[in-house]
Amino acid sequence: MDKKLVLAIVLVSLGLGTSFCDKPVWGFYGHRLINRMSVFTLPPELVGFYKNNIEYMTEHAVDPDKRRYATKHEGVRHYIDIDKWDKIPFPNVPRDFEEAIIKHCQIRFISGTDSLYFDKSITADSVILSTPHFGGVRLAIGYPVFVKYWKKVVKPMYYEDEWRLSGYDLDELFNTSYFQQNKVDVLIEDHFSEHGIVPYHLEATLGKLTRAFESKDKTAILRISAEFGHYISDAHVPLHTTSNYNGQLTDQVGIHAFWESRIPELFAEREYDFFVGKADYIENPREYIWNIIIKAHGYLDSVLLVEKRLSKSFDLDQQYCFDERLGKTLRIQCPEYAAAYTAAMGSMVEDQMRASIHAVGSMIFTAWVNAGQPEIENITEYVEVKEEPIVPDARIQAKARAHDN
Ligand SMILES: [Zn+2]
Repeated sequence: MDKKLVLAIVLVSLGLGTSFCDKPVWGFYGHRLINRMSVFTLPPELVGFYKNNIEYMTEHAVDPDKRRYATKHEGVRHYIDIDKWDKIPFPNVPRDFEEAIIKHCQIRFISGTDSLYFDKSITADSVILSTPHFGGVRLAIGYPVFVKYWKKVVKPMYYEDEWRLSGYDLDELFNTSYFQQNKVDVLIEDHFSEHGIVPYHLEATLGKLTRAFESKDKTAILRISAEFGHYISDAHVPLHTTSNYNGQLTDQVGIHAFWESRIPELFAEREYDFFVGKADYIENPREYIWNIIIKAHGYLDSVLLVEKRLSKSFDLDQQYCFDERLGKTLRIQCPEYAAAYTAAMGSMVEDQMRASIHAVGSMIFTAWVNAGQPEIENITEYVEVKEEPIVPDARIQAKARAHDN
């Protein structure tokens, strides 16, 4: 039997055949499929557990998107506007999350009702904070010492609304008495995270999953694995690596869902090959993660330019068709236009879906190996995972990107 026909049968029998089509949000389709297929890349010691819970892995592949509107910290985990910072291979973007924040933060000094930003100069050796105001101040400290202090004192404040250091803290850090004498406090403003943190979040999640394996906490293993799969897949989407994330800067609004939702929906089950082999152990997760970003971003030019070129040779009514979905009429890219787009991009969408499946399996496998390969007994009953309630917040809803599923 033809390999792709076999796959179609496998997918249908796994519940992927029609169950997705009644979901109104199209990007969910790809996430569910990738998480589901990743289970089959896992080694014998893990595959039983994940197969028994494959419905959970599939359904909960989209939890992070559902949560995007509940907290401002969620949205930024799904992308990185890497072109805001640098060009491939991004030598100027620190791979350490805290160092990236340090590089782009602003430090505001507050004394009574006065407040001003300090000039910040960072080299590999030192951090210098200075201002001609407040009687003229110049404070210098070794860079490694500053980073170490930051990780101890500032990092734990990440989820707080305000990152404030007292004069006491600063005097201790800079070995002065200046701050307490002048009653100066410091507010640190993070200007990095808002442009996306997906590679850093992947590294942190690998650590979380490793700890869940170490404690053999099946509920946590499952919940983190399903969400990990989501973020890993997002990192493979070229339009998740740019500030032009929905073609809004190049008059191509809608290209995000076109690439990551419409095309997989039309072609994945019938035409893509999702046998990606066995998961690999990842020796250097940080480098592996950044290579995902570099590769995805490397595709960005073709994603945009090919569509731009095609849109000039197809009339508008050949580009957009009307589809009936859940009793609603939807204006969406025509199958012929989508076929021309995907053909002109080569096998990019398929390759990135396959790479996502393999990466999800490899990251789970790596977390398990790093945890010392604990025995996860093959349980037959479904693990009941308690969900944290998702409470939508209207203010965040207004700010969150509408596109990225
Ligand atoms: Zn997402």
